[in-house]
Amino acid sequence: MITRFAPSPTGHLHIGGARTALFNFLLARHNKGRFVLRIEDTDATRSTQEYTDSILSAMEWLGLSWDGDPIFQTSRTDIYRQYVQKLLSDGQAYWCHCRPEDIAEIRAKAQAQGGKPRYDGKCREKNLGPAPGAVVRFKTPPEGNVYWSDLIKGSISIDSSELDDLVILRSDGLPTYNFAVVIDDMTMGITDIIRGDDHVNNTPRQILLYKAFGAKLPAFGHVPMILGADKTRLSKRHGATSVMAYKEMGFLPQALNNYLARLGWSHGDQEIFSLEEMISLFDLKHVGKSAAIFNPEKLTWLNAHYIKQTPLPQLASLMWPYLAAKGYERPNQEKLNKIITTVRERGKTLEELAQKSEFYFVETVEIAQPENLVKLLSPNGREMLCNIGQKLLEHPHLDRETFDIILRDLAANAGVKVGAVAQPLRLALTGSTASPGLFDILEILSPETVQKRIKAALSLEASS
Ligand code: GLU
Repeated sequence: MITRFAPSPTGHLHIGGARTALFNFLLARHNKGRFVLRIEDTDATRSTQEYTDSILSAMEWLGLSWDGDPIFQTSRTDIYRQYVQKLLSDGQAYWCHCRPEDIAEIRAKAQAQGGKPRYDGKCREKNLGPAPGAVVRFKTPPEGNVYWSDLIKGSISIDSSELDDLVILRSDGLPTYNFAVVIDDMTMGITDIIRGDDHVNNTPRQILLYKAFGAKLPAFGHVPMILGADKTRLSKRHGATSVMAYKEMGFLPQALNNYLARLGWSHGDQEIFSLEEMISLFDLKHVGKSAAIFNPEKLTWLNAHYIKQTPLPQLASLMWPYLAAKGYERPNQEKLNKIITTVRERGKTLEELAQKSEFYFVETVEIAQPENLVKLLSPNGREMLCNIGQKLLEHPHLDRETFDIILRDLAANAGVKVGAVAQPLRLALTGSTASPGLFDILEILSPETVQKRIKAALSLEASS
């Protein structure tokens, strides 16, 4: 089995493309076959090196490793021309001298007569040769059925009279999309073509070309579209659609792969799959026929799962770039591990974990919500903060048990709940009323920082 992923570098790798890539990758790996990456860059006006690089890095990030070097269509122009020549010599293609304005007229006429706006084959039997502005067209058989048994959609058949004579070589000497794809798939020995169902209409044209060359047909499988929650085609309106945007937002590749695999494919009720497991279980039989709905909450849920699964030092190095981007200095690994331990259950993306860790790094803590400030600066709150500050000054390196006792004693003496002592301290140290456990924080912040933050919080009154 040889499968392929054939992106056009006219944009970043998006969710739909990544799922197509994943399915082809899984199918090839499951069957111990090959997975080829082909960059379809014949559209010179829209293809860029930047998009090519971006697609390659997204594939690498997802771990969808391909076999051999990526193949670029622009390096294969001579091959396409040879195959055009072959069809010309066999009498299965012809030069067409119709100018764009002639074609427009022919199409308009066909439409006016109630037919499809098709080319009428005017140059078919003229036996013309190359000329400036001329194109080569394929002689589409005038009748007959084009049939294939789609691996996902089942039987599909199209009357060949529906199709006009396809341009295979453009006037600039470059092949058209449908022609290049067939020559590539044929010469690369692709056995299974899995792609988005926006290509269903191209398949009959491509099958006719295979037949013209007397080549064995590959199997085709067209994967249904991905829709947004509102059932319209997934687009930027539904949020981020590019794979690398998810990386930037702090998603792990395992989560994205897992999510994309389940977007249209199922294996009983199972939701969590490692890549190895997907490879061993994947099959096209369980790819659904109807469109899939993109659900960002589920992706986030899976991400939280994989964050919890990631070993500490690795999670630390994955999260660190998000803090480094804000200009903080990297602490040693041991300290970073401790920091991660306190936040790892508190965030669903790496970015969120970084955000929740930020108070460890800031010079001064900002108390974001004014209502918290009011509470903290109430006479009681100030008194509690002052008292606990004093205790922490006396015991800068206390253990968990001593800390608990101190909190309880202070609360009992003041006749308040432990929370009334803990919350002002939490607010002073982190700027928020929701944070990791206080003792864990005290173990990470230096006693000097703790005192500095308490002092800063107490001095807020003067300026407020
Ligand atoms: N290059 C095409 C695209 O990006 C895919 C062609 C194919 O898979 O046959 O949509």
